[in-house]
Amino acid sequence: MPENLSNIALIVGGSRGIGRATAIRLARSGCDIWLTYRGNHEQAKITQEQIQQLGRKCDLLCFDVSDHEATEKALRNRAEETAPSIIVYNAGITRDNLLVWMKPEEWSAVIRTDLDGFYNVMNSVLFSMLRARRGRIVAVASISGQVGQAGQVNYSAAKAGLIGACKALAREIGKRNIIVNVVAPGLIETDMTAGLPKEQILPMIPLGRIGQPDDVASVIEFLCRESSMYIHGQVIGINGGLST
Ligand code: NAP
Repeated sequence: MPENLSNIALIVGGSRGIGRATAIRLARSGCDIWLTYRGNHEQAKITQEQIQQLGRKCDLLCFDVSDHEATEKALRNRAEETAPSIIVYNAGITRDNLLVWMKPEEWSAVIRTDLDGFYNVMNSVLFSMLRARRGRIVAVASISGQVGQAGQVNYSAAKAGLIGACKALAREIGKRNIIVNVVAPGLIETDMTAGLPKEQILPMIPLGRIGQPDDVASVIEFLCRESSMYIHGQVIGINGGLST
């Protein structure tokens, strides 16, 4: 049986960017971290070291979330032993293109990682959390999933799907004291957005700055606090006013 009260936070896609900032925030607030990533060992190790310097444990788990079998192999038995108390589903990719030019693999890579991956992780871990009758789930969607974005039909569809999945899951498992919410970042400075023309987007952001990973991590940490436990099934925009 899983321990009833673990202090483990599973950060899916935690090697870099928003996931790293979230892992560090949650480690600072007392969590040990299971940090997953796809293949960037160097960045994952840097994050692990930063967490260990805070006096917390950090297990690195390298697998592709779009692969159900690999995800299950990495997570199911581990979660059966000790249920994580927090899951942050942050893994995501973009393959931007106009729909008419979009290749099938650009469509499916994004859907498989940003949406199917959520199912793969939850299907592997949720049962242990249900038995523990306690938990927090936060998924990282996007403003693109809320309002749509030209050139990102695949990504917008995946993130809108993720929002729908979390709203449904919130209704399904709320009674088990598992809180489910979504954050929807706008433009955040990470590897994912390194190639975007920021000077063109900046005038559209009322706060007049690009977001930093910690702008998102601080909201995720807030949603995981005991004092936030009446926020459930919500989508919290973190976008500097880009969409209201
Ligand atoms: P990032 O710096 O590119 O980091 C992506 C993370 O996801 C990395 O840890 C990466 O692992 C992992 N990952 C990607 N594909 C994976 C796969 N198939 N299996 C396992 N792990 C995988 O991205 P970010 O900008 O921090 O974005 C994090 C999340 O926020 C994403 O879901 C993204 O869609 C969302 N978001 C970002 C922005 C933004 O402006 N940056 C805005 C809105 C929403 P590796 O390091 O091993 O590749």
